[in-house]
Amino acid sequence: GFKCGIVGLPNVGKSTLFNALTQTAAAQAANYPFCTIEPNVGEVAVPDPRLETLAGIAGSKEIIPTRLTFVDIAGLVRGASKGEGLGNQFLAHIREVDAIAYVLRCFEDDDVTHVEGKVDPLSDADTVETELMIADLESLEKRVVALEKRARGGDKEAKEQLEIVNRVLPLLRDGKPARLAKIADDERAAFDALNLLTSKPVLYVANVDEGSAVEGNAYSAKVMERAKAEGAVAVAISAKIESEIAVLPTAERAEYLEALGLREAGLDRLIHAGYQLLGLVTYFTVGPKEARAWTIERGTKAPAAAGVIHSDFEKGFIRSETIAFADYVALKGENGAKDAGKMRLEGKEYVVADGDVLHFRFAN
Ligand code: GDP
Repeated sequence: GFKCGIVGLPNVGKSTLFNALTQTAAAQAANYPFCTIEPNVGEVAVPDPRLETLAGIAGSKEIIPTRLTFVDIAGLVRGASKGEGLGNQFLAHIREVDAIAYVLRCFEDDDVTHVEGKVDPLSDADTVETELMIADLESLEKRVVALEKRARGGDKEAKEQLEIVNRVLPLLRDGKPARLAKIADDERAAFDALNLLTSKPVLYVANVDEGSAVEGNAYSAKVMERAKAEGAVAVAISAKIESEIAVLPTAERAEYLEALGLREAGLDRLIHAGYQLLGLVTYFTVGPKEARAWTIERGTKAPAAAGVIHSDFEKGFIRSETIAFADYVALKGENGAKDAGKMRLEGKEYVVADGDVLHFRFAN
């Protein structure tokens, strides 16, 4: 599955946020089959009202949402790249995630120590990112000599990688993250293979005080401004409030949100932002037994999409009966869509679209 790491300085609210995420998941366990959670790894359901709509039409007995994994990665302090704090362990955990959520402290509270002395989310973001950039810089500088040698020896792959490395190194030396490098589509695989920390997509989470959960505050406004300038995704959220909402029974949740003046739980916004950040889309399988959502990367072709369900589906893929979500709803299900000629038979080259209702045909 896809993993989003929760990263930030100590005492910014990471654990509070992570616990809220996993408690929400636990509270939903009555409705949603629930997977075991390691202490710092949690799987959360991606809320998607389309799934309820589809299940209603098909009379599905069970609704199974798709999931996103969050990992609470503690241990980042100034000097982590030099092995301070949990330094290396911390960096190794970041390498394993697909995207990073930077939790930034945007609340004042004299009872909660700020490791840098004062509340300053932008400076905190710089501190965190600097550690990651230093780690990337050192790892590339270590690799570049060997790469040059191989490239001189005529190794094509090394040559290609070296070209990318030489584009990324000046950025890092200039204090900029690797994700700002201009990478062509056909270079993407080689770039990803470098597995840099600062090439991962980033989401800013401005953790505001309880009173600012609706409107945000001056600190979170700065975070939003920065995100906008970088073309990054950001959400303002009050981890404290989310942790209160998380333990409420589902029925009381909506009422509480309304009383607070919130339209949607912050966690739902966070999950959706993570989804968007990872470039993910959802397709559905719908029948009387279950209506289920599946996650794929945007641009995935039908056989690989089928492979998410089972590797046999991918190996033996023949075609995919495809109904767009809107058609499925408008024509009241599979039969209606079929009769109206809105069920397409798509082959191996079909790029699955967000919201497709699919039925795979495959041979064993
Ligand atoms: P972590 O070190 O980043 O995981 O931070 P924690 O989640 O453990 O939070 C550190 C302290 O800050 C705890 O005492 C939390 O209760 C508190 N805290 C977290 N979010 C908020 C918030 O929005 N407002 C206030 N006042 N305190 C918060």
